[in-house]
Amino acid sequence: MTDYIIRATAAEGQVRAFAAITTEMVETAKNNHNTSPVATAALGRLLTAGAMMGVMMKGEKDLLTLRIECQGPIEGLLVTANAKGDVKGYPFNPDVMLPPNEKGKLDVGGALDLGVLSVIKDIGLKEPYIGQTILVTSEIAEDLTYYFANSEQVPSSVALGVLMNKDNTVRQAGGFIIQLLPGASDEVIDKLEVRLGEISSITSMLDAGKTPEEILEDLLGDFGLEILDKLPTRFHCDCNKDRVEKALISVGRKGIQEMIDDGETIEVGCQFCDQKYHFTVEELEEMLVKASRP
Ligand code: ZN
Repeated sequence: MTDYIIRATAAEGQVRAFAAITTEMVETAKNNHNTSPVATAALGRLLTAGAMMGVMMKGEKDLLTLRIECQGPIEGLLVTANAKGDVKGYPFNPDVMLPPNEKGKLDVGGALDLGVLSVIKDIGLKEPYIGQTILVTSEIAEDLTYYFANSEQVPSSVALGVLMNKDNTVRQAGGFIIQLLPGASDEVIDKLEVRLGEISSITSMLDAGKTPEEILEDLLGDFGLEILDKLPTRFHCDCNKDRVEKALISVGRKGIQEMIDDGETIEVGCQFCDQKYHFTVEELEEMLVKASRP
């Protein structure tokens, strides 16, 4: 288990914290979708956030979706996560190429540009919870900070980072979310704000070899940090041929008939992981029968 999430509290429960290392997860996502460096960074940040926000949920069947729709060349991103640390996702346009931003970093903000972030939590209620916020910097971490403050009324500090090697493999990926819980004292708030202003970026901490535990120790060591849990996390897609077939059936009779008329085996890739599934003409004909049933 190289990728994992640490769950912790501090200041006698006034603060809750999550920190994650997700290098392998982001590398897997990059390989599945063949993403450009800036698309890898954008997707990697959102996957890392999804992993930490996923484990904030309580129920085994709870499902979190983070969806960004934006005007920039990446067009959007979709990530889903469960409470067990399984995450999957994809960028709408994996090929986006942009020059580095003014800080010499991968220009995630430029790739996204203006847009809307939706947080959808399906926690087994009749209707899922949906929180929406406009993108503020389009760098994702700040946008989630803004989301937590405005939609969930939880003051938070979110850091997400992906560092690439020159050969386009993922060097480091990870992040943290620090949240103030109701009743946090002014003293804790002020002290934490100072501390957050002093630390270096998440990618430089990871690149210096710091573990998620050590990063939380740096941040919250003076606040009586208490580590509660260490959970594995990974890029994992639960697709199978049955599900892809159901999705194909949902396109309707006309679409399936057109594929049959082409007379060739078709290949369908899973949107989330790009796994390829093949359907012969005979299988398509069976599907047409299923699609005809009410
Ligand atoms: Zn899949």
